[in-house]
Amino acid sequence: MLHLLQHPLAAHIVTHLRDKTTRPATFRTLTYQLTLLLAIEATRDLATEEKTIETPLETTTCRVLAHQPLVVVPVLRAGLAMVQPFLDIFPDVSVGYIGLERDHQTAVARNYYCKLPPLGGCRVIVVDPMLATGGSATQALTIVKAHGCADPKLVCIVAAPEGVADVAAHHPAVPMHAAALDRELNARRYILPGLGDYGDRLYGTL
Ligand code: URA
Repeated sequence: MLHLLQHPLAAHIVTHLRDKTTRPATFRTLTYQLTLLLAIEATRDLATEEKTIETPLETTTCRVLAHQPLVVVPVLRAGLAMVQPFLDIFPDVSVGYIGLERDHQTAVARNYYCKLPPLGGCRVIVVDPMLATGGSATQALTIVKAHGCADPKLVCIVAAPEGVADVAAHHPAVPMHAAALDRELNARRYILPGLGDYGDRLYGTL
């Protein structure tokens, strides 16, 4: 269920995200650009419906997005940087928030905040840039399902094989979209080669 973004621009952007000399302002811009590409991929299957309109020349029937509400759910804090691209291309999107904090000793995530609209019948996309152990993503997907979403998707920037396996084990039907699949986790559960702590790289809190 892992869909890897196949685009030369995506590879180029990921390389600059990995580079430790990339400064936070550039890192945020690159995150925006890459998430835009991922958002387009992850919404390829959105339902459409017929609409009859008048062009300046004649009447024609074409297609528009169907009225299924779209909800993007960032996992705080790093997921926040992946929200704006969805807002920019889907003007009616709603945003729910899940706060999960990683314990740096155990790498286990604690849910400290949750603000979600009712999710029944919605298309829900959970966004979290680093799919490392899979603990946060799995927990976030469990939470959105508990709020009524039957078929969420997960969009991340970099995935580790361990995280992909964990999400697939707990949520086998959930499609995952990523821009890169990395080698492995290190002893501190950071992704290798990775790009470091995404939140720190975004917000200059190294
Ligand atoms: N979270 C990050 O920000 N980076 C990693 O490498 C793993 C988890």
